[in-house]
Amino acid sequence: MKRFALAGNPNCGKTTLFNSLTGSTAHVGNWPGVTVDKRDGVYKKCAEPVKIIDLPGIYSLSPYTPEELIARNYILDEKPDCVINIVDATNLERNLYLTTQILEMDVPVVVALNMMDAVKKSGDSINAKLLEERLGVPVVEISALKETGLKELMDKAFNESKKIREGSTVLETSPLGHLIGDVKIALKGQNVANPLFHAVKLVEQDEIEANMHKETLPMVEEFKKTFNDEIFGGDFEALVADARYKYISSNFASVLSKKSKDTTKMSKSDKADKVLTHKWWGIPIFLVILFGIFHLTFGEDLLFLGKIFSLPSLEDLGLLNEDGDPINFGVRILATFYDGAVMSPGVWINNVWNDLIVGEFFGWLGGLVEESGMAPWAIGLINNGIFDGISAVLSFLPPILVLFLFFSILEDSGYMARIAFILDRMFRRFGLSGRAFMPMIMGFGCSVPAMINTRTLADDKERTATVRVIPFFSCGAKLPILTAVAGAIVAFFGVGNADVITFSMYLLGIVTAIVCVLLMRSTTLKGETPPFIMELPTYHVPQFKNLMAHLWDKTKHFVKKAFTIILASTIVIWALTHFSFNWTFLEDEQVNESILAGIAQLVQPIFTPLGFGSQLGSLGWVFVVAAVAGLIAKENVIATFATLAACLAAVTGLDLGGLAIDAEDGIDAVQAMIQATGITIPGLIAFIAFNMTTIPCFAAVATAKAELGNKSTYHWTLVFWLVASYVVSAIIYTVGSWWWTIFIWMVACAGLVACIIMRNKKAAKRLN
Ligand code: GDP
Ligand code: MG
Repeated sequence: MKRFALAGNPNCGKTTLFNSLTGSTAHVGNWPGVTVDKRDGVYKKCAEPVKIIDLPGIYSLSPYTPEELIARNYILDEKPDCVINIVDATNLERNLYLTTQILEMDVPVVVALNMMDAVKKSGDSINAKLLEERLGVPVVEISALKETGLKELMDKAFNESKKIREGSTVLETSPLGHLIGDVKIALKGQNVANPLFHAVKLVEQDEIEANMHKETLPMVEEFKKTFNDEIFGGDFEALVADARYKYISSNFASVLSKKSKDTTKMSKSDKADKVLTHKWWGIPIFLVILFGIFHLTFGEDLLFLGKIFSLPSLEDLGLLNEDGDPINFGVRILATFYDGAVMSPGVWINNVWNDLIVGEFFGWLGGLVEESGMAPWAIGLINNGIFDGISAVLSFLPPILVLFLFFSILEDSGYMARIAFILDRMFRRFGLSGRAFMPMIMGFGCSVPAMINTRTLADDKERTATVRVIPFFSCGAKLPILTAVAGAIVAFFGVGNADVITFSMYLLGIVTAIVCVLLMRSTTLKGETPPFIMELPTYHVPQFKNLMAHLWDKTKHFVKKAFTIILASTIVIWALTHFSFNWTFLEDEQVNESILAGIAQLVQPIFTPLGFGSQLGSLGWVFVVAAVAGLIAKENVIATFATLAACLAAVTGLDLGGLAIDAEDGIDAVQAMIQATGITIPGLIAFIAFNMTTIPCFAAVATAKAELGNKSTYHWTLVFWLVASYVVSAIIYTVGSWWWTIFIWMVACAGLVACIIMRNKKAAKRLN
């Protein structure tokens, strides 16, 4: 099968084109470097099917970043049948810089002028014919988004792929032309493939090239001596770049005719940036946006209307019966979005899904099982083991999707890239570059792709530090822990505000990450922070189609996980709680004699300083079990509570007062845990914090292992996670329970900082 490679600057629309061509739903976003992984698909509408490869977005073919290396090596070594160079037509000159380099390779090239819809909309026009003449390769106007011109592009590419093309360079007419020509002839004499490309790179003193062509190097140096230049003082890399830009602006600029000649006028994007990336306002605006997102997702009192206007609750309105249930179906619907306060869209969707869909469905299904006449243990396994586990997990689909939708909007619009840019200044102080921010934000979605994305970090130590703190950016799967425990705290103790608790826990994760990075970068992972260079993409209105593709991806992933790994773990946990060490079946109320209880009670004391250990009495082991189950998948934590809820109710014989104990809701399950164990609020918060900062799920651990490469680095990473979570949770629990312990922690911190400073000073002295 023929292979066509898509190459272009970040954000030129490669992924969008790739998706349109291959019909797959690969991730599309504004992150420079999101496509570090090679992705391929098949385009079927040419004379024969062709394979399309989405190369990483790059600005040049110099080997400074992993992306550049990947793209360069792919074209040189794998020799695609054609390179489709995608050029963002709204940013022509800058994009053509890469084009001039690709043209130097001996490979068929077609230039795709993308975003022509946007160019036309702004009233500008591009003379594609003229551009084609001057570049010497076909140029096709397309819009990856509107899917126009794609067939023509592919037909042209297919046609070109049958030809043999020899590299050409715009540097030929520059003062460097002779020099490059001579080196090229020398390389050709040695039968080097792509002689022109290598010649240019050798002249540029590209490191890789210098190592590859050691024999030719002295000759190049000889040639260079004859070359006189005053401006760049022998910096040939700068010379070459300058020559390229000069050529581009004198030969290609005329291709574009702007509607308004007034170049001093700021574009909309620049205007927006004046505010959004403002020196002082940038970060506060970001925080407000972040809070807004959480409020819209979890807020039970939209815009605090309920508080401000003291709106009446459903009970006040007499719409509930004695049991506290809605009196009719209309009220049930009303209750999904109103109860003394208007609920945010996220909560509303959540209520509809849980109360009217999942709850009803599993309630009905559970009823069928109940009446089926099966053995009691089978009914228990199905209802309390399987159904409760699955429905507890499914019940978190809405908040995850809503939160993820907001993050996708931020990413697709181009705002995320700005945040990285704003935060770079701050990050530098902690010893990271703004580049590290992208994987961290991705961590809010899932640690696995986030860890893989750290490949864009040039420095190994920076990379290790980043991989280690990524799990602290609470992922989608940890969200249920936050919402269920926060919801239970509000419902059970009647204090606080669920969205504020959730938001603060996210902040806690971020702060922990910062502190840990600081610690690591000043002790075991010391090093320079590489400079951060990034082009800010113009703002785009996020595309509905892309957003839906993201969401679908997420849903698929989540549901698949619910029905495989989580289902399996809930069954195992149910079994371990219903069998004793001599394999006799146990009723719900005998849970304390179960295998699981036995093992968990052994380790329970370890968690005493964290507030969920021995002080919780004989049933306190449930928290230990949940946390351990979370090591498989974080969704398991709440699923485990849901599985155990019925047992605890049976043991304690507590009237769980109105709690639908075998219902779907994770919040109810956590309330049951609180009733049965008497855990305190600081203990609960410490429990959340522990789960957020401890060893992440299996998948993330495996990824960390693969990404870190070095075995001992990986082992230390596991130790780091355990220690970090233990310390963070202990601080929260002790300070939350006895405020004065904060002084002890402060003294300990001061001591630690003093030790580090002294150690570093000593090390510095030794160096001198
Ligand atoms: P990549 O970084 O090169 O993979 O670029 P993406 O495919 O992620 O696209 C970056 C942004 O440009 C996204 O917001 C796309 O929706 C947008 N985009 C891509 N192609 C077009 C196009 O033809 N017209 C317009 N107006 N926007 C586009
Ligand atoms: Mg992309």
